[in-house]
Amino acid sequence: MAEYVTINEVTCTGCKKCVDMCPQGILYIDEKTKKCKVTDASKCDRLGGCERVCKSKSIKIS
Ligand code: SF4
Ligand code: SF4
Repeated sequence: MAEYVTINEVTCTGCKKCVDMCPQGILYIDEKTKKCKVTDASKCDRLGGCERVCKSKSIKIS
């Protein structure tokens, strides 16, 4: 299965902006690392709203 959502855990600040806006509800903040993670990338709409709200440009849709 293709992976559409790539998250840079080094630059992610865990701000949760992408989590709050994702219409598919597939993003979350990992409790331990405080970094963004994706549950099921196959459900991604690939419209890139998360990319636009991420100030540190840590999330990429491809
Ligand atoms: S592109 Fe859309 S559906 Fe996919 S992770 Fe980003 S906000 Fe969620
Ligand atoms: S918007 Fe960017 S920095 Fe904030 S939690 Fe999402 S990926 Fe991390």
